[in-house]
Amino acid sequence: MGKKYRILGVPFDVLTMTEAVLKVMEMMKGDKQRIICTPNPEIVVEAQSDKELMGILNQADMVVMDGTGITWAYKKLTGEKAPRIAGYDLVQEVFSAMSKTDYTAYFFGGKPGVAKKAAINMRKKYPGLKIVGFHDGYFTSAEEMKLILELKRLSPDFLLVGLGAPKQEKWIYNNIRLTGAKIGIGVGGCFDVMSGEVKRAPETMQKMKLEWFYRLIKQPTRAGRMMRLPKFVSMVNKSKRK
Ligand code: UDP
Repeated sequence: MGKKYRILGVPFDVLTMTEAVLKVMEMMKGDKQRIICTPNPEIVVEAQSDKELMGILNQADMVVMDGTGITWAYKKLTGEKAPRIAGYDLVQEVFSAMSKTDYTAYFFGGKPGVAKKAAINMRKKYPGLKIVGFHDGYFTSAEEMKLILELKRLSPDFLLVGLGAPKQEKWIYNNIRLTGAKIGIGVGGCFDVMSGEVKRAPETMQKMKLEWFYRLIKQPTRAGRMMRLPKFVSMVNKSKRK
């Protein structure tokens, strides 16, 4: 379903939200384990020098165009518009579809207590959604082993991993076989938003494509990573001239 388009070596799926949700639900039906990535421009830049990350993005079963920077690049390179699919919105739509089924979800990541709060809120928002467990994202190797055993026992259909990128992508790639999860998806700071700890930008700002600016004011520590944005723009411009 849909086509793939490579931006600076990363193969993105060009999909509408409806197509993306259908694709995720199809993946849940199958018996293969799948990986979904939602890279923003910062991660695409990071992948240029991180071979392991670039390899994972190229082996992922679905790579979503998260962030206005990615859809801007797509338009610049192809002249066509592509729908932006924020990872957070995709997850919400998938929860809505899952709530009418027996598929299960597991929340892994975030500061202690955050995944639990996120699970409570999502159960309320999507009655019928089966969240079978949660775990924070700060762990020793003994705790990690325990978590993997728990995941193996539960074998969730939708394993959300929010450890920040690229840690979460590497964790999923290296551990999905051991967990028995059907789909592993990197969700960044989604649990912070689901739990109510961090607010998403107001809708008007999202529509004006200013969500990144809102996050920058709210979390000024992101400034360092945002310095990769101008690099992304110049790399895309350069690849267009080639
Ligand atoms: N995090 C975590 N374990 C770590 C480092 C980070 O669980 O060792 C969590 C952190 O609490 C936050 C998320 O990972 O919830 C990273 O959020 P961010 O918005 O920075 O995600 P990104 O934009 O990098 O995908």
